Amino acid sequence: MITHSRVVLDEDDLSGVLGVLKTGQLVQGEKVLSLERAMASFIGVKHAVAVSSGTAALHLALLALGIGEGSEVILPSFVCPALLNAVHYVRAAPALVDIDPDTYNISVSQIEKALSPRTGAIIVPHMFGLSADTEAILSFNIPVIEDCAQSVGATLKGKYAGSFGAMSIFSFYATKMLSAGEGGAILSNDSNLIHHARDLRDYDEKETYAPRYNYKLTDIQAALAESQLKKLPSFIEKRRHIAGVYSAALEGIVSHLPVAPEGKRHIYYRYVIPIDNPEGFMEKMNEKEVQCRRPIFRPLHRFLKLSGYKVTDDAWSKSVSIPIYPSLTESDAYRIVDAIKESL
Ligand SMILES: *Cc1c(COP(=O)(O)O)cnc(C)c1O
Repeated sequence: MITHSRVVLDEDDLSGVLGVLKTGQLVQGEKVLSLERAMASFIGVKHAVAVSSGTAALHLALLALGIGEGSEVILPSFVCPALLNAVHYVRAAPALVDIDPDTYNISVSQIEKALSPRTGAIIVPHMFGLSADTEAILSFNIPVIEDCAQSVGATLKGKYAGSFGAMSIFSFYATKMLSAGEGGAILSNDSNLIHHARDLRDYDEKETYAPRYNYKLTDIQAALAESQLKKLPSFIEKRRHIAGVYSAALEGIVSHLPVAPEGKRHIYYRYVIPIDNPEGFMEKMNEKEVQCRRPIFRPLHRFLKLSGYKVTDDAWSKSVSIPIYPSLTESDAYRIVDAIKESL
């Protein structure tokens, strides 16, 4: 069976973790600080705070920006519920918008329509490894939280996604670009925002009381995340190579293959193709021992029973994510292509 995603760990990852275990310093310490420096330096941003998950990072980013009851937060519908959860944690109102049909990213024109005097922030997830139109979104002059959980290493005009917004967030969940089991980070050039997020991350030894959280990362996870970060350029190269194999082999067979518009480097966290009857297709692929997935389990507007999200509904009713990860071999990729051709 070729699984849909797979963690890639080598001897360096294992010895990094073992090194932490041997010191006995398991919780947040030097390794967390070191990961924060490495993430900030890689993305090209001044400051970073490591936290326990991407969801925790979104939560603290909203709190640091002062988003709360009475504020609206714009976000796309075609995304996982983590974003909606964070908006609800701070008691803000979600303003869901539709996506761009070519890229699955948040639609700039739909953001413009959703703006209101109460808009406090826009969460911009860079979907499946491709940067959204961040510069156009910044022109609305509303604080932007870039969600880079799927797009560490994606670029826009030569700069990394995560270096544009007021804040950006990352996830080190097992199946993401950098695997640490669980984990996350918040990046920003604004030292006040970072100071606020850092203060809320843990609760002990504070001069004054306010409700705070336990969103700390362990040194074990931080060592793993940093060792994975060292391999990110080679991970991306391998993903782009597999995507190249798929795109060449499926040209003319599947319409609307993933696109990388001018000025954007796609890192192919996911390779998503439109397929009529995704459930039937995935079943046939499964019989051929290739595991596929829906890239989004259910769009957010469907959970909230809202209508008027035509592009999202269309994408949801016919998108399938096929296996792509650094350890997938070229012969696996050709086997997957054959299975697709037979299953269509
Ligand atoms: C995975 C993911 C998250 C949440 O990250 P966790 O570490 O699982 O909490 C947020 N946004 C996007 C776009 C994601 O893919």
